[in-house]
Amino acid sequence: MRSALVVTALAAAVLSHTAVAQGGGRQGGRGGGRGTPIAAGESCPPGTTEIRPRSCMAPELAPPSILDYRPHSTLVVPVHMVKTAKYPAIDFHGHPQGLLTPDGVVTLVNALDSLNVRMMVSADNMSGERLQRAVSAVRGSDKSKDRVRILAGINFQNVGPGWAEKAIKQLEADVAAGAVGVGEIGKGFGLSTKKPDGSRLKIDDPELDPIWEACARLKLPVFIHTADPQEFFKPIDYNNERWLELALFGDRRYPSDRFPAFETLMTERDNLFRKHPKTIFVAAHMGWHANDLGRLDKMMAAMPNLYTEVGAVLYDIGRQPRAAHDFFIKYQDRILFGKDSFQPEEYPYYWRVFETNDDYFDYYRNYHAFWKLYGIGLPDSVLKKVYYQNALKITPLLPQTGWPK
Ligand SMILES: [Zn+2]
Repeated sequence: MRSALVVTALAAAVLSHTAVAQGGGRQGGRGGGRGTPIAAGESCPPGTTEIRPRSCMAPELAPPSILDYRPHSTLVVPVHMVKTAKYPAIDFHGHPQGLLTPDGVVTLVNALDSLNVRMMVSADNMSGERLQRAVSAVRGSDKSKDRVRILAGINFQNVGPGWAEKAIKQLEADVAAGAVGVGEIGKGFGLSTKKPDGSRLKIDDPELDPIWEACARLKLPVFIHTADPQEFFKPIDYNNERWLELALFGDRRYPSDRFPAFETLMTERDNLFRKHPKTIFVAAHMGWHANDLGRLDKMMAAMPNLYTEVGAVLYDIGRQPRAAHDFFIKYQDRILFGKDSFQPEEYPYYWRVFETNDDYFDYYRNYHAFWKLYGIGLPDSVLKKVYYQNALKITPLLPQTGWPK
């Protein structure tokens, strides 16, 4: 009892000292009495922050906007920058727009060399003549002929009687021309693509079934991007984790009066995956469940034909290094590397998250990650699978030789 009293007195002394040291002592040094009280479970009013349990206070200095507050971390920890991937990588989510020309491919391959990306899979939904032009640009240079492969697109306009037959014929022609898979099926499929009668084309529409079966028959993986981060479908208020991004980019807002709900799209997508167990689907962006790996875990466990890809969700992988590490270990045979937007200077952030155990470092874009990243330290055997072995396994038309064992 006596010692408890001493502890209480000590704590009070420390508290009052802290209050004075922080310059907040205008109303005396006891620390009590300052701030505006709130009830348990309430949040502080706007413009204030909780300084003690259930006590809110406004800063004496004018607060900066979220754009201008850029604190420099004082944390001193080991730093391991990783400029090039430890093993040759396949970027399964390539968008080299503009570079699949006779001149462009050389620029592209030089950039890939500097990162140890041995192969880019172009996921630009190409078909017909456009695909043929891209293939001949790649084949036209010794430097690029083994470094780029191309996915075919599916045209989802006018889905109705006779559509599937035509789409399959086109897909077969595209494979004959050099395509190695299908994709990236874009988010418009589900969000906005319409059928001829004006209704929304649902992702699990039965009229599409024959094309998915054809992909299985032709051994083409289907790379598909469905919806967008769940916060894009939510009210844009100050609790929305992506407020700044949504304020910057109007085309990322999906208000419920104009778009299907996130969960509607997820349900249709999962129906599609379940309905075609012989077709290999690669859910881009970790299916937008990198923020809920438990959910993705359940999907992967239930659907052996489902693979996933890490493009543009590094901010979620790197903020939960222990859970992400365990997920990558568990699903090491079904995760593919992909980058999405082609910015060579951004790839090293991926290498650093996957290969190191570094703590608390910056992501490459502030507007969609108000937090730091941590390395998940994957073992070499898993790095090889994620970087290239899994892509080779599900894409038999990729060049299969010359890769490290
Ligand atoms: Zn993409």
